[in-house]
Amino acid sequence: MSKEVRTEIAVIGGGAGGLMTTKKLAELGYDVALIDKAPTFGSGPSTRNEGWLHRGTVHSGVIKEPDRAMKIARRVMYGYEQIMSFAPEAVEDLTSTTYALFKDGELADATEERWKAVDVWFQAMQLQAFFRENPEISPDIVARAYKTKDKSLNFRLLYQKLLAISEKLGVQTLLNTEVIPEEEGRAMLVESDGSRRPLFADIFVFTTGLAARKIFGTMGYDMAVRFWKSHSVMIPRLSKNGFFFVDPLEASMMPHGKYSIACQSEDDFQIEEPTFEVVPHMAHQVFEALVRMVPEAEQYEDNYHANACVKPDIIKGPNSPRSVDIELHEPMPNYFVAFPGKVTESPYMADTVVKTIFDRKSDSRISQRPGDIIFGDETAK
Ligand SMILES: Cc1cc2nc3c(=O)[nH]c(=O)nc-3n(C[C@H](O)[C@H](O)[C@H](O)COP(=O)(O)OP(=O)(O)OC[C@H]3O[C@@H](n4cnc5c(N)ncnc54)[C@H](O)[C@@H]3O)c2cc1C
Repeated sequence: MSKEVRTEIAVIGGGAGGLMTTKKLAELGYDVALIDKAPTFGSGPSTRNEGWLHRGTVHSGVIKEPDRAMKIARRVMYGYEQIMSFAPEAVEDLTSTTYALFKDGELADATEERWKAVDVWFQAMQLQAFFRENPEISPDIVARAYKTKDKSLNFRLLYQKLLAISEKLGVQTLLNTEVIPEEEGRAMLVESDGSRRPLFADIFVFTTGLAARKIFGTMGYDMAVRFWKSHSVMIPRLSKNGFFFVDPLEASMMPHGKYSIACQSEDDFQIEEPTFEVVPHMAHQVFEALVRMVPEAEQYEDNYHANACVKPDIIKGPNSPRSVDIELHEPMPNYFVAFPGKVTESPYMADTVVKTIFDRKSDSRISQRPGDIIFGDETAK
């Protein structure tokens, strides 16, 4: 049997959430191991998505309940600012602009109010000027157009930078290695050839996304996770800029070098088990929405590339709407499970994890604040 692994904190799952959390924990001086069962980091939803660094613009309008919409918009903006200052080189195209579009003028009015309330940056455009700059967009369905600061990002480059910095700080990384929880302080590592060895850690952070329900289900904990499938379609790049409708059934199209990725704001449907199998007629609905926005895309009717992706969310109660919020749970002592909601929210999620771990393991050489001694620390509860 190969050697056991010992670390202070084990981060399990090297998608956006795990990579961001690992880097932040390593920067605080913790001894960290990052472990993924796949042969590469970011193999799941973290690279199968639209590569859109959100800035609260779409979430402010698309989420129906105002308080929830504005809470998520704020967290997304927090993440946007951190990612932009950490990895500006990951922005795909500095010369492109991203526009928010509306078919429904009333939705535009309501969304503008929310943008103002949470400080989402936007600039209303005269439609004539918008169509002069973007003649490929169909005038039939655009009632309003706004410039935004949303960006297309090469998430792969972001992950590379997070990984490189983590490794420089001494993080051990293991690929092709599945982690199975066992008891407080000890889990099992199962390598792709079936060999097993123990993993000892003070704290385990599972950022295992779609796998979390199964992992903790086998330990007797119901994570109440649902799965939602949605599709994107890829076509050769047809526009200089990026566009997204806030209206639920219309398209977005974000540019990534030689190609563009199109989605619909709301095409998710609930599934029992997470698979990335494409459902052709659902992917075609996304393509049809794209053609309503960019009629020229019709030439790719027979050869667009469809991609399916799955989002997990936690059931909050009967009829709870699909959430894109972050989640942090502790199903077993010192075993945390964290979901970022969006890649753009991963800094907020990672900061929440870091604060929680700091409260458990704070360095006794740093004085406690008088208020913490008297009142305890909220984040530790
Ligand atoms: C269609 C779609 C489009 C999206 N578009 C965007 C977008 O444009 N912008 C944005 O900000 N967000 C977007 N998102 C959301 C975003 O992709 C996810 O929030 C994010 O990728 C989740 O990251 P994660 O680290 O939690 O999980 P994942 O990416 O699922 O990573 C989990 C990792 O855990 C590993 N793992 C699982 N089980 C184990 C185990 N037992 N042992 C070891 N390793 C394990 C897996 O191999 C995997 O690498 C989109 C999501 C979907 C579905």
